[in-house]
Parts: sequence; structure tokens; C-alpha cells
Amino acid sequence: MKQKTKVIIALAALWAILGTATVSAKKKPETQKLADKEQALQTITIEATKAHIGFLASDELNGRKAGTRDSKIAAQYIKSMLRQWGIAPLGDNYEHPFEAYSMEWQKRKPYYVEPDSVAKLKQMTHRKLSMVNILGMIPGKKSDEYVIVGAHFDHIGCDPDLEEDKIYNGADDNASGVSAVLQIAKAFASSKSVPERNVIFAFWDGEELGLLGSKHFTQSCPFIHQVKGYLNFDMIGRNNKPENPQHVVYFYTASHPAFGEWLKEDIQRYGLQLDPVYKPWDNPVGGSDNGSFAKKGVPIIWYHTDGHPDYHQPGDEAHKINYEKATDITRASFLNVWNLANVESY
Ligand SMILES: [Zn+2]
Repeated sequence: MKQKTKVIIALAALWAILGTATVSAKKKPETQKLADKEQALQTITIEATKAHIGFLASDELNGRKAGTRDSKIAAQYIKSMLRQWGIAPLGDNYEHPFEAYSMEWQKRKPYYVEPDSVAKLKQMTHRKLSMVNILGMIPGKKSDEYVIVGAHFDHIGCDPDLEEDKIYNGADDNASGVSAVLQIAKAFASSKSVPERNVIFAFWDGEELGLLGSKHFTQSCPFIHQVKGYLNFDMIGRNNKPENPQHVVYFYTASHPAFGEWLKEDIQRYGLQLDPVYKPWDNPVGGSDNGSFAKKGVPIIWYHTDGHPDYHQPGDEAHKINYEKATDITRASFLNVWNLANVESY
């Protein structure tokens, strides 16, 4: 063999080795993205679920009634978590204040945020309640597309005339959902991967008075028609069926069958201990804050573990939560939000 040929063969071999080394050191973009997703998933823990629900549903927060100092303390807690994890506010401030109005003559009259109703009520003797939504955002690569994950943080307060336990703690309704949104926010913040779409983390006030916070947001949001999906939590911590502690209802907009497929695949792949009842829904306008989005034509996903005897009772307390399930629902929904934020079309 000529000297020149030997050199060429040696160079070719070196090239092959270097080439392989470069490929293995720098993973393909899809492989890297999957690794980033799985690393972010690891930040979701049962201890964090216990910490968030334990604080929000403690007696010291007096049941977080909308418009009271107690719900404002819950709002401050949420804000401080978002700030700690480096999540920017949506707009200038995490706090998005709004007012709701009602008639004065009977205390239990409903509150309204719709401009027409507000204008009429302002012309008579009326009641006014000031509330605040908390909103943070992780910017995506496409600045004009959004996905939102949300839960209401208000509950129904306390009643000093109750003879025994006077506090409606609202551990399941909806400290459990707030814990999920907080942990999904932390997981996204911890990921090196920039999502394709903007991801908004929303904490609604005034849900118990008629979805007020989410109604106010959806009627005033200038980019509502650029929202590609909304994922809602309302009550994800109790065992409606004692014989099946893995029970969860998974509602989703029926015209988006991919939402059902995603959960089935993720439960298998990640061994999540959940036994969902899949409920595709043509027009999912009922139940919770998902309704405000469905009415604007935004496709939704809603996790809910069903009613129970402590629903809207002082017995909805933190020690009755199924923390394993609430945490696995948080993992499943993080994976859903990852898909909402990154999958090209669905
Ligand atoms: Zn609720």
C-alpha cells in the first residue's frame, strides 16, 4: 500500500471516530427534548403537594373567601412561589385585580363581571367586591400562541355561627388544584427546554361566586383567540369511590381526541397510578373555570376526582387528601401541558 493511501485510510478512520463521538455528546433535538421533559417531571413530588395543600387549607387561612384578607394571603403565597422559581408575571404584575357587582337588597344575590350587567348595577344601590387573579408566564418560541393551566384559589370562608368546626378549609376544593398548577409552573421553570408556545400559569379568584376570575379574564384578554388550549383543575384529591382510590374523571373537548390519547400513553409510559374515566364533551361549558374558556371556543382539559360528602363542608380538610393520587394527577397533567405547549397541532 502506498504511503498516501495509508494516510487517507487513517484520516477516514479518525473522521469516523470523531463523527460518532460528536453525535453521542450532542443528542438529537428530539432526544434532548424528551430528556428535558423527564427531568422536569422529576421535580413534582408528594412532599410539595403536602406543603402547598397544607398551607392553603390550614385553619389560619380561614377558608380563603374571595375578597377577604384570607384569600389575599393565599394570593401572596402563590406570587412568592412564582417569583422564587423565576417565572415572570403576565404583563407588568402578577396581580390582575378586578371588581364584581351585585344588587344590595338580598345578600345572596349573584355577583357579575359582565360589562352590561355591571353598567346596570352601577345605576342602582349595589354591592362591589374587589378580587385578584394571579398570572405568570414562561415565554415560548412562538410569541403569538398561548396555552393556559389554571385553578381557582378562593373557597367559601368560615361561618362563626356553626356550633363545631367553623372553617371551610377547602383542601380538595381547590387547594389541591392550586398545588398542581404551582408544581407544573416549577417543573417548566426548571426545564432547559424553551416551550414552543407561551405557557401561562393562572390562579383564579371568585370561582365559588360564579367563575368570576376566569370570566373576567376571558372577556378582557386581548389574545383569547390565540389560546390553543386550557387545562383546569378543580378538586383532584379525594376518593369518591373508596373501592377505587385511583379514580379520576378526565373531561376534554370531544373535537380534540388527541387529548385522550396523550393521557393513555403517558399513564402507560410513566407508570402513573391513575384509573381515569375518559369523558369527551362536545361543549364543556359546565362545572368550573373550564366553562369560561369553552364559551370562547378554547379546547379544554379538566381533571376532577368527583364530589364527596365533605364537598363545601367544614370537613374538606388536608388530612383527608389522597396525596399519592393528587401528585400523580399533577404529573399526568404536566405531561399534558408539555404536549399542549410543544406538539405542532392537535
Ligand atoms: Zn372548586
